[in-house]
Amino acid sequence: DFQVELPKVKQDELGELSQAIQTLARDLERLKKERNEFLAAIAHELSTPLTYLIGYTKVAMRPEIQEDERNRYLRILVEESERMKELVKNLVDLAKMDENSFTISKENFEAKAYFQQLINLVRPSFTLKDLELTFICNKDVQIYADPLRLEQIFLNLLDNAKKYSPSYTQVTLSVSTEQNKTIISITDQGIGIPPDEIDYIFEKLYRVEKSRSRSLGGSGIGLAVVKELVEAHGGTIDVKSTLGKGSTFTITLKGEVAE
Ligand code: ADP
Repeated sequence: DFQVELPKVKQDELGELSQAIQTLARDLERLKKERNEFLAAIAHELSTPLTYLIGYTKVAMRPEIQEDERNRYLRILVEESERMKELVKNLVDLAKMDENSFTISKENFEAKAYFQQLINLVRPSFTLKDLELTFICNKDVQIYADPLRLEQIFLNLLDNAKKYSPSYTQVTLSVSTEQNKTIISITDQGIGIPPDEIDYIFEKLYRVEKSRSRSLGGSGIGLAVVKELVEAHGGTIDVKSTLGKGSTFTITLKGEVAE
């Protein structure tokens, strides 16, 4: 009769193999669990602003409502929609980064005019919260970066500075150069980050004291995106913070000049 001859495998090799397969199966389970948790968190983040949107729209539609009150609700509608838009944009970018299908195109431009425009864009929302926004950029600093990606980085950081600062404090954006490097920092006088949590804030979905940031509309996605974007530029990001006093996020970019 017919018999297949199997290669002889030593007992200990077989043991190693079965262990490797078990580890693989465990990794797969863990990844599946992480993916499901991630999806659940995203679904939650998207449904919270949607609940507000629906609620405020219904109130704004009431015929008896006063004009200025209606306008207040409409402003909230716009703000919540913008926040959702940013969240979705960050998510799409995170997915692209994971697949390495993410491109940045750097160019040279002048820092002062660039950041002034960005400041003008966000200033109304700072004023609304009685936060003073200061911009310092003395020299004629040139930046070599992807202007759209840089905007995404600083909209995220400025949004955090605003979210985690009490009214009547100051947020400062400053740009300087040092040995062919561009240094951009954002300093706030906000609630600060606990020292034992500071190492984790750049991780996906990580939030300090989940409740404190969720009530402030946080998703734990922003800083993960910021870090990836900075590193895609060949730059670094650093954070210094004192609980109850405030935080400084510093980004250092290579001051290369395009060929
Ligand atoms: P979130 O959407 O929750 O703000 P981020 O990824 O942007 O997510 O930030 C991660 C966590 O880091 C936040 O939950 C918050 O606790 C903390 N954090 C970020 N920026 C600041 C800041 N300027 N001041 C205090 N805490 C901050």
